[in-house]
Amino acid sequence: MNNYCKVMTTDGLVRGIAIDAKEIVEQARQIHDTTPVMTAALGRTLAAASMLGSLLKAENNTLTLQIKGDGPAGGIMTVSDAFGNVRGYPGNPHVELPLNAKGKLDVSGAIGRDGTLTVIKDLNLKEPYIGRTPIVSGEIAEDVTHYLTVSEQTPSAVALGVLVERDWTVRQAGGFLVQLLPGAGEETIVRLEQALEGLPSVTTLLDEGMTPLDILRRVLRDFELEVLEESHKEYRCNCSRERVERALISLGRTELQALAGEQELTEVGCQFCPQKYEFTAAQLLQLAGL
Ligand SMILES: [Zn+2]
Repeated sequence: MNNYCKVMTTDGLVRGIAIDAKEIVEQARQIHDTTPVMTAALGRTLAAASMLGSLLKAENNTLTLQIKGDGPAGGIMTVSDAFGNVRGYPGNPHVELPLNAKGKLDVSGAIGRDGTLTVIKDLNLKEPYIGRTPIVSGEIAEDVTHYLTVSEQTPSAVALGVLVERDWTVRQAGGFLVQLLPGAGEETIVRLEQALEGLPSVTTLLDEGMTPLDILRRVLRDFELEVLEESHKEYRCNCSRERVERALISLGRTELQALAGEQELTEVGCQFCPQKYEFTAAQLLQLAGL
């Protein structure tokens, strides 16, 4: 079933993306055994990474969205491919905090209010593109909005939400991203601001059974829309034994030799998925070129 939609207003001045990330975030929760506040923090970041990643131009491009604050979460790491399929992990999956003053999961308390949001776009050029802005609130949507407006100079509105059930499973998760494109003037801005005003939260819209396209029709209700893409995004890891080998080689000869000396079998787990890779001491020495 489609869980992602990209539209453009027919005047070409506004772009909109929405994702229903419930499946993705529930899978992330199961992989990382996250507490509700960390399911929300990781889930919001995954939804944002997917939407930003889906804007990449070439198939082999990747986008990394990393949030590092001074809170107990210890940072959130997410990566999207050029299609918007994502993976990610939290620094500390087990943070437990009381609900915030609004009675909501305290994502900003987990992330921290001091820190940075970093976007790395690997466009298969010599050097990756790196953009970094300070955290605004630690609620992630505002932080991503700030990044897009300041670092990419694309005025944007971002909404992200994750709703967790009493048994810690994911009830709803998703988000939308609306961007003004070159040529958009004051009139478009005002129409957009009016549409965004009083809009229910994205999890409320999802709870009402809205699809990503329904959400975009609601958000951009004053505009005529052209649907550019409806598709399915998923939690997807692309780890392989070869990639792990390359990572091990990058540790250097001394480190590999030490590892090989410590134990007969070294197990290396993927940070993004449950996959584990085993290396014998002899294999490690071979990687070390010894
Ligand atoms: Zn993996």
